[in-house]
Amino acid sequence: MNYLLPLQAQTNTHTMIWNPSKECMSRDEMMALQSKRLRKIVNYVYHNVQFYRNKMQVMDLRPDDIHTIEDIQKLPFTTKQDLRDNYPFGLQAAPNSEIVRIHASSGTTGKPTIVGYTRKDIGVWSEVFARCLSSFGVTRDDIFSVAYGYGLFTGGLGAHYGVEQLGATVVPTSTGNTEKHIRLLQDLGITGIACTPSYALYLAETMEKLGITKDDIHLRIGAFGAEPWTDKMRAEIEERLGLKAYNIYGLSEVTGPGVSYECEVQHGSHINEDHFFPELIDSKTLQPVGDGEVGELVFTTLSKEGMPLLRYRTKDLTTLTHGQCACGRTNVRMGRIMGRSDDMLIIRGINVFPSQIESVILSLEEFAPQYMIIVDRQGLLDTIKVQVELRPEFFVDDFPAMERKKKLLIEKLRSVLSISAQVDLLPPGSIERSQGKGNHVIDNRKLV
Ligand code: ADP
Ligand code: ZN
Repeated sequence: MNYLLPLQAQTNTHTMIWNPSKECMSRDEMMALQSKRLRKIVNYVYHNVQFYRNKMQVMDLRPDDIHTIEDIQKLPFTTKQDLRDNYPFGLQAAPNSEIVRIHASSGTTGKPTIVGYTRKDIGVWSEVFARCLSSFGVTRDDIFSVAYGYGLFTGGLGAHYGVEQLGATVVPTSTGNTEKHIRLLQDLGITGIACTPSYALYLAETMEKLGITKDDIHLRIGAFGAEPWTDKMRAEIEERLGLKAYNIYGLSEVTGPGVSYECEVQHGSHINEDHFFPELIDSKTLQPVGDGEVGELVFTTLSKEGMPLLRYRTKDLTTLTHGQCACGRTNVRMGRIMGRSDDMLIIRGINVFPSQIESVILSLEEFAPQYMIIVDRQGLLDTIKVQVELRPEFFVDDFPAMERKKKLLIEKLRSVLSISAQVDLLPPGSIERSQGKGNHVIDNRKLV
């Protein structure tokens, strides 16, 4: 067992860069490493996964045709449907005897898919998660509560191993029993937390109900992810829990949370691109899109043994930015996830993401970040209704005043998103709270 701090550890910067030898490489060095790893992984899947061998043979492609990372464009894409078609072990490259753990995706958009990890895969995941925590400013002196669900979902155990790898103290609170969690926050002096942004708000709300303020707890850092959230939501969570909130992104197919992470600059999330090579494509033409343009994220795992993926289409829409960041890291940054390509609502021909509606709601001080979007079809016409809770201080027994607030939101939705929506104002606390990933959309049109 090695109890030494990483040799590269620096303590004199705002936040420590956990592994500068991988987070601060020159572009040439990074590309050389990625090229070497890509050659190896292509060779590995070609000889161990029938699915990839077939796909490559159909394209008349052999592992020897892949020389540099730029050759990645020759390789076939992999989709969630491929994972489902080959359920459960069809895409596994390592023998069962090497698999030490299995997780499953949350199944947000259908049947879950499973992922097997070798011991080395768990090690890489812990390492990349430790990079994230370090970037958020977590140190070995922190006591860190992991309030993502433990179980098949990757959030809980992924964060757990990451905190241990960094050497901070992990408190595996998981979800549920929020009052006990709040008690622990107070009694143990817990300084960091990882959970979904939805759960962070639920925690804040429960604290308020119990009469506990942010000054009664000691949280200073939050690692939030697993679902889309906005900067408005960030400000709200920071204010209510008294901490600094950072974004962490990941998906179970690629490894789990820890694929990318914000630094103190908070200008995008750095991708651990020595392990997960990102591409951004146009979902329709499948052609690459440039820095700054919105596209679908595609990942190739460069070091995974259990279930490596070639060019996996995530359906997550975002932007990429290359170039050095003021924090000192050089690895590419991705923007916020605007939504999944299959999340986008098309309302009477207008494209709308739920996150855009959230931004409009939170730009008005009257409304709480608790809302539901209900889409329906009457005859040939799409209808959209936004149900939103008023903040307690704005929930008054004055009909004209409430009507004015409603009109305000309708107007703002129309001017910002060009959609005309019906709005229902709800009393505080009426929308069901989520302890995991929040669900904000009911699309009844799909049922027709
Ligand atoms: P599922 O695809 O079934 O939800 P996962 O639990 O693996 O399975 O979730 C991964 C997905 O969660 C990502 O593809 C992305 O859509 C979303 N996600 C994860 N982290 C973030 C984040 N920080 N911001 C926005 N979306 C996120
Ligand atoms: Zn940075």
